[in-house]
Amino acid sequence: MNRALYPGSFDPMTYGHLDIIKRASKMFDELIVAVLDNSQKSPLFSVDERVKILTEATREMDNVKVDSFSGLTVDYCKNNNLHIMVRGLRAVTDFEYELQIAQTNMKISDFGVDTVFLVTDLQYSYLSSSTVKEIAMYGGDVSHSVPDYVEAALKEKFRNIKR
Ligand code: ADP
Repeated sequence: MNRALYPGSFDPMTYGHLDIIKRASKMFDELIVAVLDNSQKSPLFSVDERVKILTEATREMDNVKVDSFSGLTVDYCKNNNLHIMVRGLRAVTDFEYELQIAQTNMKISDFGVDTVFLVTDLQYSYLSSSTVKEIAMYGGDVSHSVPDYVEAALKEKFRNIKR
């Protein structure tokens, strides 16, 4: 079976991530979307909240599974027998960072992990979790960037933070 991993912070998931998930799910028999438990990055959403959002978003995609992990992505690959990683590319700025990660992963893995890059759909190329959070923090409209349940979760977060 042809399986792949789409790892990321997904803090929170945007339509850009979802587009990559939809397209990758058509390329592989099984796609595992795994949330990185990166508490040192001080994420806005907990791992459980991010997993919940992704699970809701992929409810109708039968070959997509959502999981979470901490530690090295290559170790997650090895433990789950995954040899292919999917990552999204929005612009040249992503490329340098992603190239470095992909090559590092190749170097440090004794298991064989390749990274496949999917180029973002033009309509989502401006989209990032950090700008979505910034807009939502100031009460701006993020309805074009995230599903309604993510928008509601963002409003709830910032309401609680401001209290
Ligand atoms: P990271 O995993 O680097 O902390 P993210 O969770 O935001 O960052 O992103 C996970 C992956 O999804 C990365 O490969 C990133 O380039 C990609 N990605 C993020 N936003 C978009 C978008 N709007 N279109 C396509 N790919 C995206």
